[in-house]
Order: sequence, then C-alpha cells, then structure tokens
Amino acid sequence: MSPIRVFAVTVFAAASLAQSASAQKCSAAQMNAVKQAKGAAAGRVQSVYFAVTGQGASAPQAAASRHKQAKEVAQLMLGADIDKYNVDDVLRSMNATLLSSGLTFNCAARSAKGCKQWAGFVEQGKYAVSLCPRFFTDSAEQRVRTLVHESAHVAKVYFVGEEAYCAVYDCQSVCGGAGDKQWNMADNWGHFVHCASGQKADKPDSISGKPSGGKSSGAKPAKGKKK
Ligand SMILES: [Zn+2]
Repeated sequence: MSPIRVFAVTVFAAASLAQSASAQKCSAAQMNAVKQAKGAAAGRVQSVYFAVTGQGASAPQAAASRHKQAKEVAQLMLGADIDKYNVDDVLRSMNATLLSSGLTFNCAARSAKGCKQWAGFVEQGKYAVSLCPRFFTDSAEQRVRTLVHESAHVAKVYFVGEEAYCAVYDCQSVCGGAGDKQWNMADNWGHFVHCASGQKADKPDSISGKPSGGKSSGAKPAKGKKK
C-alpha cells in the first residue's frame, strides 16, 4: 500500500468561472453545516475504500462480501474493475481531502457563475471547494452527496465538457458517460460511494432532478492501472 499521495497542484489561468466566483468566507453556521456533511461524506468514502481494499472488516467473510459488492457496483458505475484499476487511489485521495484541515471552503455568492446551476463547484487546480447558497438549503443528505461529488473533483476526476448527473441514486443506473468517460464523471463516483457504502437506494422519482454537484472542466482523468 503506497502512502497517501497529495496531488501536486498546478494553477492554470483559470476560466471566467474563477474570477466570478468571488471567494467569500463562510459564516460559522455555514461551516458547521459543512463540518457535519464533511464528516459523513468522509465516513462513506472510507467505508468504500475499506471494501475495495479488503481492510477494515473484522471477519474475512464480511470483507470478501463487501469487496464483491463494491466490485459489482464499480463495474457498473465506473466501468472499472477495482482489482485492476486504481479505484483505491481515488478513494484515498477523496477521503484525505474530506478529512484535511487544509481544504478551503468558500461560500460563493448566488451571482457566482458556478452557482447558476450547481450547489457547489471546484475550480481546477485549487485545493478548495466553493459552495453556493443552495448547498445550505439542500437536505442534509444532499449536502453529503455534494461533498462526495466535489471531493472526487479534488481527486482529479474531471470531465471535459458538460458533466452528467444522477437525479436519483437508485444504485442501478449510470449517471453518464460510456467506456472511459464513465470514470471521469464525478457523479458516477458519488453514486458508487453511496451504493457501495450501503446507503439506501433512492426510489425512482424520489428526488426531482436538479443537478447538485459542481461544474468543472478540463483536466486529465485519474484512471490508471494499479501499480
Ligand atoms: Zn461536478
């Protein structure tokens, strides 16, 4: 097991999104909501990491069955075999992000470009998550999902172009992308973490369809063969 890798961060000439996001400090009440969601999100990601790596379960049988389940869910949602691809690396990076005290949260103004459509977003190359006013009016469950989604972006899961989202986490469908593109959709990771960590599947139509993850664009995919 290689140690947790902190990805080098390159600052690009950020798109207009960055300029308009006008980083604002979050209030104490907002940070409290973030803290709650962050802890829950980290717990889910960690439990999937354990399932994927076979760690953390007391009984070998339980570990084997959790691994099998995670393998099936990852195959469906990410198009990747957890025994062949570096799903564990991405999960470890997501978990480290969610647990890091160095991760910055900005509370963006409603007028920020990234807030027109999303509840949060990550600007490429920044170790920061911007949260929109909507994040704080979303349900507690939705806030956890948003942070799992955003942590995937920080772990370098990006789709070049329009991101696809799951309106519902039904644990049966793919949020978007086919083939290698599946890997680059942050919501496929969000859906994967939801289902492989044993959360209840949404009933179809239980959540009405606005996407809630962050907008982002343009980086290299993180997929690679296991080392
Ligand atoms: Zn996103």
